[in-house]
Amino acid sequence: MIECRNDEEISKLLEEIESNEALQDDLEFHHPVKKNPKIIIYRFEEDLDPDAALKLIKDQNEELRESEVKHEYLMKTPRGDNWIISLDPKSFRKIMETGKINIGWYRINLREYIRPRQCFQCFKFDHVAKKCLK
Ligand SMILES: [Zn+2]
Repeated sequence: MIECRNDEEISKLLEEIESNEALQDDLEFHHPVKKNPKIIIYRFEEDLDPDAALKLIKDQNEELRESEVKHEYLMKTPRGDNWIISLDPKSFRKIMETGKINIGWYRINLREYIRPRQCFQCFKFDHVAKKCLK
């Protein structure tokens, strides 16, 4: 599998494929919509301003300097906000190796965030409402 990072690379690759008959037979071209991985940062201080915090983490974490970090959402908990952000796969791997993120004066634990499938009918996990047996 070949991964392309941007449109320029994609068109270059397409050109190459189109100009090479042998390749054309062997390759199928897909254009998948790839979702960036998400991480969850635990119990950030209250009243997080996502824009300011995004700037902070890019400044303070070597791993994220060049990354495409995006605010996803805030999960309110009684002990502070959990902050969920998405980022490009390369930076994701780097920051996961560290396992922590610097924000302001803090060094906070993070984890990969995988949203489980949840049924909106019975609120159990691992199936969606369409397939609910209730
Ligand atoms: Zn259900």
